[in-house]
Amino acid sequence: MARQPDVVIIGGGAIGCSAAYYLRSEGLQVALLDKGPVGREASWASAGIIGPSTHPRGDPWFRQATLLSRQLFDELNGALFEETGRRMGYGGRGSMTLAMSPGEAAEATADAEREAAAGVSLEVLTGSEARRREPALPESLEAVILHPEGRFLDARNYTATVARAARLKGVKMRPGWPVTALTREGGRVTGVRSGQERLGAGWVINAAGAWAGMLDSSLAAPITPDHGQIMSLEGPASGLRHTLHRWSRYGYITPRPDGRVVVGATHEEIGFRRRITPGGLKYLAGVVGAVLPGIMEQAMLDIWTGLRPASPDTLPIIGPDPRASGGFLWAAGHSSSGIMQAPATAKVLVDLVLGREPRIPLDKVGIERFLG
Ligand SMILES: Cc1cc2nc3c(=O)[nH]c(=O)nc-3n(C[C@H](O)[C@H](O)[C@H](O)COP(=O)(O)OP(=O)(O)OC[C@H]3O[C@@H](n4cnc5c(N)ncnc54)[C@H](O)[C@@H]3O)c2cc1C
Repeated sequence: MARQPDVVIIGGGAIGCSAAYYLRSEGLQVALLDKGPVGREASWASAGIIGPSTHPRGDPWFRQATLLSRQLFDELNGALFEETGRRMGYGGRGSMTLAMSPGEAAEATADAEREAAAGVSLEVLTGSEARRREPALPESLEAVILHPEGRFLDARNYTATVARAARLKGVKMRPGWPVTALTREGGRVTGVRSGQERLGAGWVINAAGAWAGMLDSSLAAPITPDHGQIMSLEGPASGLRHTLHRWSRYGYITPRPDGRVVVGATHEEIGFRRRITPGGLKYLAGVVGAVLPGIMEQAMLDIWTGLRPASPDTLPIIGPDPRASGGFLWAAGHSSSGIMQAPATAKVLVDLVLGREPRIPLDKVGIERFLG
């Protein structure tokens, strides 16, 4: 690379590629480094559910970041097509939570009232109202909570497309460049190292996904891999317009624009290993049986795995680190919802690099919460 970039981003997942795109759009020189190919880790494995909602612990970052991302995805859907000629696979009419017994309906409706009071847009539908909007739904429905702001996204396509747009704007991509250490002068981070090769930069952003916490022992973070098995099936003959959840259990079925559906996903703490197991298959089949039994005999098309970058409280780690006097930003640990927070995280990184007040307050997502 001829000139030292203004910003080096470690990690070419949805977070790193979105940041590269928006930083370059501000005129900054950006280099993006990945240990492997760009966009082949968690962001490739993801179900891509975009669901502006509240965080279980009520943290405002989550609601603000998912809402802002939803607006940004609407814009990116057109902009990235114009810039690259590729579709990112975005659409849908919201997400539905299905209650199939009077008990489930009472609990789901009470939860919906709490969400509505917190400002979340939703509707409580009867079974027949819901089936009019989504004909594939089963007969045995007591109530359905519709979150109309939800969308689906083909996360593989999104990451590849935003990476391509970033490259076309002039971001230098270096796949196969594993960062092995950060370089420092005094307390300030001044660049990165891969073996003997060094690359200096004004800013280094750590967006290395499940590996982010162990890049440099002096700037460690409690980010661990959360292994997920996930599969795709042929969808119902009537198509699917909504992401579906069952109130009483974890798991989801979410559409793709070509008629396939994606069923996910397990959560397993098995370190950095990856494996497809009969137990994983049984779990995923259980989700189909509980949510949309009508597609139980549809053809299974694919099954794959990925490593979510999990933080102890499931909120991301974003912003500077007091253990470095400058030049370094976190953008990792987004756990199960990194796709739906990617554009908002990227915009906040732009604010920080340009010395502006971050557009979403970072007090609950700073690394400080994990530093004794
Ligand atoms: C099965 C599954 C389902 C999911 N479903 C959803 C969903 O529906 N909605 C949602 O919002 N989120 C979902 N997620 C979570 C989401 O995918 C992640 O939060 C998000 O992809 C994280 O993006 P990232 O860019 O931080 O990480 P990644 O996509 O993992 O990218 C990190 C990159 O850093 C690179 N890297 C690592 N170490 C180094 C190094 N030393 N040097 C250089 N490069 C390095 C890696 O090679 C990788 O390319 C799901 C995840 C899984 C696994």
